[in-house]
Amino acid sequence: MIKNIKLAARTPGQKTTIIDVNGVKVGQGLVIIAGPCSVETESQTIETAIAVKKAGAHMLRGGAFKPRTSPYAFQGLGLKGLKILDKARKETGLPVVTEVVDTRDVSWVGEYADVLQIGARNMQNFSLLREAGKSGKPILLKRGMYSTLEEWLNCAEYILAEGNPNVILCERGIRTFETYTRNTLDLSMIPAVRRESHLPILIDPSHGTGLLPFIEPMSLAAVAAGTDGLEIEVHIDPASALSDKDQQLTIPMFESLMEKLRKLKAFFEESKMYVPGESPDNSTPETKFTLPSAFSEAVD
Ligand code: PEP
Ligand code: MN
Repeated sequence: MIKNIKLAARTPGQKTTIIDVNGVKVGQGLVIIAGPCSVETESQTIETAIAVKKAGAHMLRGGAFKPRTSPYAFQGLGLKGLKILDKARKETGLPVVTEVVDTRDVSWVGEYADVLQIGARNMQNFSLLREAGKSGKPILLKRGMYSTLEEWLNCAEYILAEGNPNVILCERGIRTFETYTRNTLDLSMIPAVRRESHLPILIDPSHGTGLLPFIEPMSLAAVAAGTDGLEIEVHIDPASALSDKDQQLTIPMFESLMEKLRKLKAFFEESKMYVPGESPDNSTPETKFTLPSAFSEAVD
């Protein structure tokens, strides 16, 4: 059992919480968030947004504030980037997910974002978590790269304790001794979160692996394990990207992935292997555990 969590804990029989983002229901069906690592130009963002929407994505991602390892690397367009995201939302109707890195920016970034992302590097920035809680906006809380499930859920608790129930968790890989992949994508967090918390969980296979050919198989594996959704980096021209150019899918790659996700979803539905949306029975999680929502409405 995870210690000290109250509001984030799943009580016996409790269903996964559904977070409504302008009509997109996270925690019900399979929700796909796609878009570039960074907002770079208006055409790059809007063209990507139109293409991912056409392929079936439900929300648009794109960083206007980029937490970079080097202070000399592209830091994002800031306000200009948020205005571009706003245009992309108007153009496509896709809700926008974008990162906030500074406590002082939460309220005004929240005016442009439909979901505020708190990145792995800021997972335990407790003042940022409190501000995010006060904003009342849906918050996508990524797992810190050195963080345990207990630490992660306690961070969700910070947001919830401020009266904001709209927390979405996102596993994005952790640091291990393995350096072949950018991070080690910990898919066991899907059943682990499912058992311990009622909050929805997404998987980010882009940062989770950092390797283009690995994104599709890990996305499919995440769906088979019952994720509530995926956050995937897609760029109209990855080779020219200003950040994470090696892990951003091209549009045709994303279209092909979406097609496979649809087929996988249909397979699970036809086989009746899982009961969509049913809550797990906490008393016997090993035998009665039902995978949630990935097999209901989503990707259609
Ligand atoms: C991102 O999604 O843009 C990002 C920076 O991811 P992470 O915080 O997981 O590294
Ligand atoms: Mn990135």
